[in-house]
Amino acid sequence: MPKLTIDTQYGIIIIQDLETVFVNEYYAHLYGYSSASELLNSIDSFLDLIDPSDHPKAIDNYYQTLKGDVLPRGRSFRNRDRHGREFSVFAIDHVIEWNGKPALQVTVIDLSAQERAQQQLQENEQKFKQLITNSGQGISVHRDFKPIFVNQAWVDLMHAPSIDAVLRDVNLLTLLPEEEHANAQSRYQSLISGRLSGAKTVVKNRCFDGEIRYFRVYDSLIEWDGAPAVQAVIEDVTDRVILEAKLRQLSVTDPLTDIYNRRELDRVLNQEFQKGQRYGHPFSVILIDIDHFKVINDTYGHDVGDNTLRAIANTLRDTLRQTDVLGRWGGEEFLIVCPSTDLTGASHLANTLRSRIANLALDVTKSVTISIGVASLDTDDTQVSDVLKRADRALYDAKRNGRNQVKVDRP
Ligand code: GH3
Ligand code: MG
Ligand code: MG
Repeated sequence: MPKLTIDTQYGIIIIQDLETVFVNEYYAHLYGYSSASELLNSIDSFLDLIDPSDHPKAIDNYYQTLKGDVLPRGRSFRNRDRHGREFSVFAIDHVIEWNGKPALQVTVIDLSAQERAQQQLQENEQKFKQLITNSGQGISVHRDFKPIFVNQAWVDLMHAPSIDAVLRDVNLLTLLPEEEHANAQSRYQSLISGRLSGAKTVVKNRCFDGEIRYFRVYDSLIEWDGAPAVQAVIEDVTDRVILEAKLRQLSVTDPLTDIYNRRELDRVLNQEFQKGQRYGHPFSVILIDIDHFKVINDTYGHDVGDNTLRAIANTLRDTLRQTDVLGRWGGEEFLIVCPSTDLTGASHLANTLRSRIANLALDVTKSVTISIGVASLDTDDTQVSDVLKRADRALYDAKRNGRNQVKVDRP
């Protein structure tokens, strides 16, 4: 038989012939006594320490363990201390030798703290679930995009048939357009692995009825039914996204001709100039000025002048390549930025444009011509205005030389 060991971190009671023969101080305190001797003097039997409903189990346990019918094992008991405080203990039995005879040593651990914590956790989880179920915000909880929970607000925002249908057979990833999948998956991995505690993004979503809506998604890592999961709170921001796109479009557009404005041209010019300096990528500019435009205004009126500007802008736009950037540089001047294009390519394009405009049939003015100056980025250029100055000089040459022609600034 093993020797008696007393660990003061646990409550220990030793029972022999159903009499309590020893308790340690911890055990006495656990049951509301100020000392072990006070406890021993106050009780008749160890059963006084156990809830009456557990008495048969305790007696049974005592005999069976001593006889060796059952292996020593742990069990939990409900207890009540002398002041009426109810608490639970986890008890482990050992058969030991006490004064030369077998006795039962019961080591007990107070489970109240754990029990309270567990209960608190369950209550909190319950409150949390109730809160999100009734939330007006769309909320989903998922593991690897398989939804475990969605609320009614989510179903409404997503135009989904019902909560049940979503939980039964939907993979949330399929609601995102293909190009968003990689982002969504890497965000999920960062969250679930704890590398990221929360993430906020605007995503384009395809609702259940096929409608495209934009949602701001607040993702966070939560515990759901005892395991990690990702909670996504969604907010429909479609109106805002559309408005922002419109405003962005307006801020870069010339209202008369609907092509880019000077501010956007400046941005593109600087961007291309930097690329040229950094990576040696060439770019060219095509500067266009309408010939004798003042005469058109003076002869036919300002409105006809405006219409002519629009007609020219449209023709230029329709002739350009996808990568060329056309904008209104000033009153009746246009500028085209041609990325990755050398002088030869740009002058070829400029000639095409000149000829298209010269052959353009206009309602009132019958015809109109343009003069063009072309220049490319030079290795000596220190700022973007160096290129523009050369294009301007070439344009001046074209005017002086008789108009309706292209002049190229050759180094
Ligand atoms: P050149 O061949 O030398 O370029 O002659 P031009 O008459 O085109 O040149 P000038 O600079 O003397 O005149 C440009 C005219 O463009 C003056 C201005 O009234 C007109 N203009 C500028 N912006 C607008 C506009 O938005 N609408 C209209 N209708 N006219 C404009
Ligand atoms: Mg001019
Ligand atoms: Mg002009």
